[in-house]
Amino acid sequence: MSNGLTIALSKGRILEDTLPLLAAAGIEPTEDPERSRKLVLDTNQPDVKLVILRATDVPTYVQYGAADLGVAGKDVLMEHGGRHLYELLDLGIARCRLMVAGRPGANAGNGTLRVATKFVNIARRYFAGQGRQVETIKLYGSMELAPLAGLADLIVDLVDTGNTLRANGLEPLEHIADISSRLIVNRASMKMKHQRIKALVDRLGEAVSEAGTARPEH
Ligand code: AMP
Repeated sequence: MSNGLTIALSKGRILEDTLPLLAAAGIEPTEDPERSRKLVLDTNQPDVKLVILRATDVPTYVQYGAADLGVAGKDVLMEHGGRHLYELLDLGIARCRLMVAGRPGANAGNGTLRVATKFVNIARRYFAGQGRQVETIKLYGSMELAPLAGLADLIVDLVDTGNTLRANGLEPLEHIADISSRLIVNRASMKMKHQRIKALVDRLGEAVSEAGTARPEH
């Protein structure tokens, strides 16, 4: 295991909101990650690299130690299961809610309901925990279409403003979890590079609390 640090991030909201926190902790990429086609980016610190991945692959890279640290949504972590990972810090970014949604009253039926989602593990656990029998259907996007097209009674999806649901005649029906992005670490890295990682986590934690005072909750 090298002594440097590799941090896994995903493009979009997480990258946008994580870069200012990393900058406050003294880590800045040497080129713009949103524009660059490079998947491994150098930073102003010679032994710190950023790797840019698909959001759902971040826990996998960290789990296997291909990245020491990563930033992933709580939704992605709940779906992945979190094996060999520690969650170090709630970064308080990319906040939203994981909800069961559907047409009004669609969750009331007695029979086996069909639930379309990309979060099949979370959906199975949630409904099993309530003793409700459902059939889950794995989708990779546009979950809101499933009830309209007659594919499913319900969806499990991330909801922020609720506009996407409303625009499709659906409504949030049940709250599963509050979601935000978390800093995760590989367990072996945490042991081998403890000082280094602790120093970074402390600085990120300070940056998060400073950002938190300026940002209203929603
Ligand atoms: P909204 O219309 O504001 O409720 O946003 C809902 C859409 O944005 C859905 O397609 C969600 O999957 C997606 N979305 C909302 N919040 C997030 C988030 N924090 N991370 C990723 N996708 C999100």
